[in-house]
Amino acid sequence: MQEIPDIVANYQKVKNSIMNDAKLVVVSKNHPIGKIQEVYNLGHRQFGENKVQELVEKYELLPKDIEWHLIGHLQTNKVKYIAEFVDVIESVDSRKVLLEINKQAEKFQRKIKVLLQVKIAEEDTKYGLEINETKELYLEYLNGLFPHVEICGLMGMATFTDDQSQVKKEFLNLKSLFDQLSQRSSLELLSMGMSNDYELAISCGANSVRVGSAIFGQR
Ligand SMILES: *Cc1c(COP(=O)(O)O)cnc(C)c1O
Repeated sequence: MQEIPDIVANYQKVKNSIMNDAKLVVVSKNHPIGKIQEVYNLGHRQFGENKVQELVEKYELLPKDIEWHLIGHLQTNKVKYIAEFVDVIESVDSRKVLLEINKQAEKFQRKIKVLLQVKIAEEDTKYGLEINETKELYLEYLNGLFPHVEICGLMGMATFTDDQSQVKKEFLNLKSLFDQLSQRSSLELLSMGMSNDYELAISCGANSVRVGSAIFGQR
């Protein structure tokens, strides 16, 4: 028999283990409205989803003061569905999608906050910008090419491995890029770390973590 996770206790545990005041984005993908509501009722407002359709459905059903983060790959033709309400798109992995976000943000007369997703994992990952592309995009942004977006930081995912030294190396690489870009113009958010590695991520400089299964249990 599978144990029913105690969401409230798990949430408190994660929250208490976050030593500095890193931001906690609770990843609610694949979990129903009722479970999100449990965490919401504890006063938590930052939630993350990785699919556009699921995000839209949950946005419509849940209280409007939730701060929604999109953390999964975003197809250009789907930006329009979330442009009006999304708070942070953490998964900008191409110039093409950044241009579309800029366009849709203008249409809705707002500025959309985004993070550039950087490929830091050694394993072959599908999504994420190379280091050089990230620098290029950020410079273009500072030169005013994307006036309706606000690039407020970087996001990265480490290799899926038990080798902590490998994960640490990748986190520190991203932190070093973050510091480098911040010298041009200060960046606010460094989003790295998930259920398995958020404490390590914070020790490597993350100030925002994305935690799902440590709170909701396995999907
Ligand atoms: C699912 C997901 C997470 C959370 O993963 P857990 O291991 O459940 O904490 C974080 N970031 C991204 C991009 C995800 O897709």
